[in-house]
Amino acid sequence: MQTERKPLLGRIRSTLIETIFPARCLACPTETVTPMGLCGACWGRTHFFTGPVCDYCGVAVPTADRTTTRLICDSCDRTPPGWDRGRAAVAYDGVGSQITMAFKHSDRLDMAAPIARWMVAAGADIVSADMIVIPVPLHWSRLLRRRYNQSAILAKHVAGLIGADVEVEALKRRYATPFLKGMTRQERHEAVRDAIIVAPEFVRSVTDRQVLLVDDVMTTGATLAACTQVCRGAGAQSVSVLTLARVARAE
Ligand SMILES: [Zn+2]
Ligand SMILES: [Zn+2]
Repeated sequence: MQTERKPLLGRIRSTLIETIFPARCLACPTETVTPMGLCGACWGRTHFFTGPVCDYCGVAVPTADRTTTRLICDSCDRTPPGWDRGRAAVAYDGVGSQITMAFKHSDRLDMAAPIARWMVAAGADIVSADMIVIPVPLHWSRLLRRRYNQSAILAKHVAGLIGADVEVEALKRRYATPFLKGMTRQERHEAVRDAIIVAPEFVRSVTDRQVLLVDDVMTTGATLAACTQVCRGAGAQSVSVLTLARVARAE
């Protein structure tokens, strides 16, 4: 009898929770059958990168043949980003941008677990358990205002899912860079070039490791490129990147 009481109580408790807090779509108030999913309408307006993608940035690449060469999008072909491989889960448009913004600015930490699962699914062929997962850092002044580094939270979840090490303090911003929105690719690269360093006490954690950089959204990739450069400078064996969203046309 004792063994049956627990599951029954558990069932009553979860039914109660579901009645009081019914599962909602991640992106809108629609009730859903399972918690932390998307409703049908939002699913239809979310552009997941599931087909052939650019091996550098993860954006969809129109091609019928995936077997011949490494796929690279036009933008990465013109300007190789500097890291080894990269993937993104969704396009930064429609529901994809809505979810990215909500996670960054609206205290929606409950979104981290499902978002990280999308990211790991998108990066399945580039991630491994022997990597060290490192988030793109936030300057302390922004951290104060925003209260959490959304990339650090994603990095922890991603590392948990793939069974890898995570070091959220490994990279640091020496100064707050200006908001990059509206800048050209060149201006963005110049604005972040010297802003990021490997924290001296973490150099040894990066040396000879396969680094997986995690960020919420990739626009031109300037910040991720700066992170890549300092990780290579610290002796990283390889640097890959994984983001939630990718801005499809960012020039
Ligand atoms: Zn919805
Ligand atoms: Zn690309």
